[in-house]
Amino acid sequence: GRKFFVGGNWKCNGTTEQVKNIVSTLNGGGVPSQDVVEVVISPPFVFLPLVKDLLRPDFHVAAQNCWVKKGGAFTGEVSAEMLVNLCIPWVIIGHSERRLILKESNEFVGDKVAYALSQGLKVIACIGETLEQREAGSTTEVVAAQTKAIAAKVSNWADVVLAYEPVWAIGTGKVATPAQAQEVHSELRKWLQANVSPEVAASTRIIYGGSVTAANCKELAAQPDVDGFLVGGASLKPEFIDIIKSAE
Ligand code: 13P
Repeated sequence: GRKFFVGGNWKCNGTTEQVKNIVSTLNGGGVPSQDVVEVVISPPFVFLPLVKDLLRPDFHVAAQNCWVKKGGAFTGEVSAEMLVNLCIPWVIIGHSERRLILKESNEFVGDKVAYALSQGLKVIACIGETLEQREAGSTTEVVAAQTKAIAAKVSNWADVVLAYEPVWAIGTGKVATPAQAQEVHSELRKWLQANVSPEVAASTRIIYGGSVTAANCKELAAQPDVDGFLVGGASLKPEFIDIIKSAE
């Protein structure tokens, strides 16, 4: 079986004081055991050491990005080697905010995933269509192209979680319906089956992101191909604990 996975993407938010408060709330919450759910918190780079130090040992941390190759003369970037050096196990790659605002292409995202994996990081690889693409009927094609660029460079799928995050659902309060999420997740699993292997298709976690809340997570989690969540706004709030509990 695929262990349920809940990621909290804090994006570019937080002060030291707020970080301490959120972590203390998370540390006090009752959640299912690590055998049932894998929880990964992703603060901005500067807070990673603090969060890692303070966070309960059954939760893990992720960076929100890393550089595409070995570090060096790349002002403002953070390398995969540095994350490994700080014992940060996970990294989010290809978030739509980086694809759209920072113009990261499918190929660049694929290269980043490959390099992060080569350094021993585990990767939450994000894909998802815009509203315009959905309305044009090209959702399947768009997410397949994004997945293909990643799959072309991945050999160890055990270290990859695929996050389907429709752009129109991110930060909008317009969550995908359980049927909409299930439809794309099932298509993605079929894509993996046909283009990678039946084993990888059966074992890879495909998680949903976009306006996930305590109120809508249960119905989404009940879908057969929804293996967890990548949570933005609600991961900064106490309700994140309730979202983790939807694993049960
Ligand atoms: P929201 O949960 O705030 O919609 O953000 C989702 C997201 O982008 C997680 O990576």
